[in-house]
Amino acid sequence: MNRDRRITREELKNAIHEAYISLKDNKGGRNADYIPYLANVDSNLFGISVCLPNGEILSAGDCDYRFGIESISKVATAILILRDYGGETVMKMIGADATGMPFNSILAILLENDHPSTPLVNAGAISAVSMVRPVGNSRGKWEAIKSYIAELCGSETPLIEELYNSESESNHRNRSIAWLLKSYNRIYDEPEIALDLYTRQCSLGVTAKQLSIMAATIACGGYNPVTKREVFPKRQSAKAVSLMATVGMYEHTGDWMFSVGIPAKSGVGGGIIGVLPGIFGIAAFAPPIDKAGNSVKAQLAIRQIMERLNLNIFSGERVVVVDGKSS
Ligand code: GLU
Repeated sequence: MNRDRRITREELKNAIHEAYISLKDNKGGRNADYIPYLANVDSNLFGISVCLPNGEILSAGDCDYRFGIESISKVATAILILRDYGGETVMKMIGADATGMPFNSILAILLENDHPSTPLVNAGAISAVSMVRPVGNSRGKWEAIKSYIAELCGSETPLIEELYNSESESNHRNRSIAWLLKSYNRIYDEPEIALDLYTRQCSLGVTAKQLSIMAATIACGGYNPVTKREVFPKRQSAKAVSLMATVGMYEHTGDWMFSVGIPAKSGVGGGIIGVLPGIFGIAAFAPPIDKAGNSVKAQLAIRQIMERLNLNIFSGERVVVVDGKSS
């Protein structure tokens, strides 16, 4: 008996299109304003993009607009250190637990007993960047991070200089996190190098299309379906997806997994990626965010598409996207 459920390309395309049309005028949320550059991005931008395991991309809206990757870059650096150090070492040096607190919480570090918790919150991400090789060599590390994010996204993701300057001038809180972690021996390089590289990686400019390719690369076990290159070993993709499933939507991750059922990671620039292993990678982008830092429209778009197609990572169903008629 063939237990695969088939969704046609057409159904997926319609779901994306309908989500776009029904949400494009939604005015919920506000641009992040603690980073001045983000406050000035056009709030009406909105795009949805899905990348399939065959490399095909289905999109609606502003999918070629370049915006700040922000915290979605944390997934890339997490995968980079998972690839280079392995899961056990990452668990030991950073951890993989949700904090249940805001992404830049200092209290979470204190409560976790000096542990950065997970590479997907600021503390863990700064710690992760400090582990990127070659340790101690800022320029070499930046090359490693930048080229790795490009590998995941299938093409270059240029730095948005204006965003980088804006973040560098306003990242006082992250600076305290870096130095606090240093005092707990959780920075494996120089705190100022780690802070600067973290700020830089958050300032890379990506499009929704590129992020859907990154998400699809994770969904395909490390194989980039567009460039046809193996970007990381298969066993690390389950680790990356588990990190997203536990903390990817900040302190709302439990609610998100319960109600939408797709491991995701958001960034305060307005992007969200979602990974359905073996099925597809999705990305949505709209700058206005809610209080936790998640894009309002991007959340609604992904949710609507998941519901419309009756998809859920916990369903136990095998789903394939095919051409032709659905069964
Ligand atoms: N660069 C931002 C910060 O560190 C990223 C936050 C986010 O996207 O969650 O505050």
